[in-house]
Amino acid sequence: MKIYNTMTRQKEEFVPVEPGKVKMYSCGPTVYNYFHIGNARPFLFFDVVKRYFNYIGYDVTYVQNITDIDDKIINQANDEKVSYTAVTEKYIRAFFEDIKALGIKGADIQPKATDVIQEIIDFIAKLIELDAAYEVNGDVYFSVESASHYGSLSGRKLEDMQAGARVETNEQKRNSFDFTLWKKAKPGEPEWDSPWGKGRPGWHTECVVMSCSNLGETFDIHGGGVDLIFPHHENELAQAWAVNKKPLCNYWVHNGFINIEGEKMSKSLNNFFTLRDILKEYDAETVRYFFLSKHYRSPIDYNTGILDESAKAVQNFYNALEAVDYLKTKEDKVVYPVEFTKYTEAFIEAMDDDFNTAKALAVLFEINKLISNQENSNELRVSASHLLVELGTVLGFFSDIDKKLKSGFSDISESLINLLITYRNEAKTRRDWTLADKIRDDLLALGVQLLDTKEGTVHKLLK
Ligand SMILES: [Zn+2]
Repeated sequence: MKIYNTMTRQKEEFVPVEPGKVKMYSCGPTVYNYFHIGNARPFLFFDVVKRYFNYIGYDVTYVQNITDIDDKIINQANDEKVSYTAVTEKYIRAFFEDIKALGIKGADIQPKATDVIQEIIDFIAKLIELDAAYEVNGDVYFSVESASHYGSLSGRKLEDMQAGARVETNEQKRNSFDFTLWKKAKPGEPEWDSPWGKGRPGWHTECVVMSCSNLGETFDIHGGGVDLIFPHHENELAQAWAVNKKPLCNYWVHNGFINIEGEKMSKSLNNFFTLRDILKEYDAETVRYFFLSKHYRSPIDYNTGILDESAKAVQNFYNALEAVDYLKTKEDKVVYPVEFTKYTEAFIEAMDDDFNTAKALAVLFEINKLISNQENSNELRVSASHLLVELGTVLGFFSDIDKKLKSGFSDISESLINLLITYRNEAKTRRDWTLADKIRDDLLALGVQLLDTKEGTVHKLLK
């Protein structure tokens, strides 16, 4: 299996630290608002990464942090005129509701920054002891000049960055790229006691402490959006090198940007769609399909046209499953015919190639064709429906299949049959017996019998 590593800028063979196990960390939400569609991309992608590793037999430990202390949270609390814990509690709850609504299983360990303040303080003290950090008037900074690897992840050199940098206004810092590990509290802000006075931790330290304490000094995969490479991940890595003298992880995995109707997401364009709002209009599986239809590293454009197409694609899967009455055979032990191996292999080959979900979806469509093709035997179609659900589940689809096939989608079938009855009646009125009979016969072939009664035409399902 190959994974693209941002550190080396190439696809590399995946070799886990511990055989059979995957230890991965991805940066979680800062809980000051409902998360937007851009945040949803890494949440959903790493959900699929975990599902896939499980599918091919790995035991996965997935850690995702919750940043529950940050300037943005303090600003939001001031705006809402509530305490900062009222803000974090509200949006932590919302975060879990929203990922659940999107069909994301969630991380195995989900630590909050405020739960590990003492560990963060100990870690900063170690950095100071090692001369990698220094304290000035209650603030603690990391010294980038002490870090010989600084810039290795983002591919930047400190000298080049300094040449292009604006004049630094913070005269406490030795180097303008030194970053804050501990921030002195201002009056009215949340604060914790520390050897450097009352204050709170910086974001870059929170993540390095929460990842290493749960996964070890060097773990397998560290992920997040491409916008986190610099400075966040670069700064996490610099601290890890300073303390552990080892790389933080073996594979840095970053997902691409999301644009909205061709524009960058920005406050000024007012195009920050929250996932919550999108799920009012689109089904969770439509949103999932939308993301997975593009490779995770490619930029993706959010627009209603693509969402509508995604909805149709998902509907195709359900139509096929309904055509073979999947729920009736759901519990049956189905033995796949030998020729199905090529589909499973193609799926695994796509996912093994740096999680190419777009190609994996194309395999699902091939299987879908087998189910929809009425020239195939019923046995083959039923087997194919089981394979579709098996592989689709790896990508996070079909988690609500019972409900969908029984309710919403059955309603649509009901409406479609009634629509065809209307067309047949219109044909009869025009004395177009050929078409009227064709509609009746074709529906019968699908297992729907039409009965002309005094009260009008009714239909009966023959299965
Ligand atoms: Zn992080």
